[in-house]
Amino acid sequence: MICLNSVLWQELVTTLRLRGKGIQESGAFLLGNVIDEKRFVRSFVMYDDLFPRAFSRQRIYLPSEAYHQLWRICNQRSQRVVADIHTHPKDAFFSITDRQHPMIPEIGHTAIVLPNYAHGEFSLTELGLYVYQGSFKWHEYSGSKILRQLILTDEKNP
Ligand SMILES: [Zn+2]
Repeated sequence: MICLNSVLWQELVTTLRLRGKGIQESGAFLLGNVIDEKRFVRSFVMYDDLFPRAFSRQRIYLPSEAYHQLWRICNQRSQRVVADIHTHPKDAFFSITDRQHPMIPEIGHTAIVLPNYAHGEFSLTELGLYVYQGSFKWHEYSGSKILRQLILTDEKNP
């Protein structure tokens, strides 16, 4: 379960929308802490801040230097990667390459996909949410099932 302050969520969605400019995907790592199976998001790091050409190939690509920088940021913030998020041009379904290339290949790592390059109004039930099971297998949550996996809260530090 991902728990996220609603103000931080809006900031995240806006940043993803602006970075994609309506013409390309954008993405971010969600950083925070894990407490009792709950993944609390406290901050995020944009892929293109780690590596400007993250979206210049057919799929999201980050070289090892980008991951080294990510681990440094995690250390500085005393946080870990709890999930990732990226946008798709239309519907928010995991692509085959998304399935085959987990950004963090750890069991329980969660990947979220936003529709329409994060443009326009959309409800949480239109997102795709995938929890990594290992061996390139994912649990998929869509529609109303997402509402039990992605919790937006007004609390700052639950
Ligand atoms: Zn994708």
